[in-house]
Amino acid sequence: SIPLGYFGGLGRASKNGVLIKGGNYLDALRNVDTVVFDKTGTLTEGVFEVARVKAFNGYSEKEIMEFAAMAEAYSNHPVARSICDYDKSFIENPNQVRNYKEIPGQGVIAEVSGKKVYVGNKKLLESYDIDPIDEENGGTLVYVAIDGKYAGSIIISDRIKADAKGAIGELRKYGVRKIAMLTGDSQIVAEKVASELGIDEYYSELLPVDKVSILERLKNESKGKIVFVGDGINDSPVLARADIGVAMGGLGSDAAIETADVVIMDDKPSKLSQAMKIATITHNIVL
Ligand code: ADP
Ligand code: MG
Repeated sequence: SIPLGYFGGLGRASKNGVLIKGGNYLDALRNVDTVVFDKTGTLTEGVFEVARVKAFNGYSEKEIMEFAAMAEAYSNHPVARSICDYDKSFIENPNQVRNYKEIPGQGVIAEVSGKKVYVGNKKLLESYDIDPIDEENGGTLVYVAIDGKYAGSIIISDRIKADAKGAIGELRKYGVRKIAMLTGDSQIVAEKVASELGIDEYYSELLPVDKVSILERLKNESKGKIVFVGDGINDSPVLARADIGVAMGGLGSDAAIETADVVIMDDKPSKLSQAMKIATITHNIVL
């Protein structure tokens, strides 16, 4: 059983913008060995800027953006929201969108003005036997295909959160041995973020099921508790399997906030080490 004194710790955490759903999680935060972060929306802002657009096959760059925005109109993935925010007038009439389908960790397919539009990563195009001409070169590349043919690409760039690097450094002070990052994004982008932040291990180009199996493996290797921190977009199953599932409350999905054991209200990754600090102080007061 959890001593009554833990309620003080939960209150202290909530004043700091961290919702901990029970004294057992606060206690577990004192014994964390491995922390696994999702990338997009967790370590990065998840708000992408459109850096450049390319068009092929007789389409204009504007048409590529319009088709992409229409196809993404019903998706709440950060990539989709950023493409739709580029020019709101492109999606004034989303009822021209038919047979919309989202493939988690890959992208979307929809009929827009009678054309079949695919918007997503290389995996999405490959599964429909469409060859992209373009190669990844730094930012996240979103491919656009129309009626079964490659039609263009959109390079979008995300920013690392201001407190992310400090957050990683602080975790080591609380005895965290291993810090890993999982992402469905490309190897090139993952490598850049991981090395900038000093993350020990990263895994890229993952489907949602791959994220689960990697978490299970890291859990077996862990010498203490394993924490997963995500935003719940394509990572809710991982959140549920960690010893302590932490969700970003601002940008995160409602389902993730439900599933999570800990919710960081302001989406700042540095709040995790603050919660560990509160856990340690609480323990010292209680015992
Ligand atoms: P992460 O693990 O970085 O949070 P996700 O698993 O949510 O990323 O998505 C992995 C990749 O799949 C994204 O980087 C993007 O290339 C692609 N993707 C997913 N959803 C969409 C979408 N709605 N539109 C375009 N691309 C998408
Ligand atoms: Mg994500």
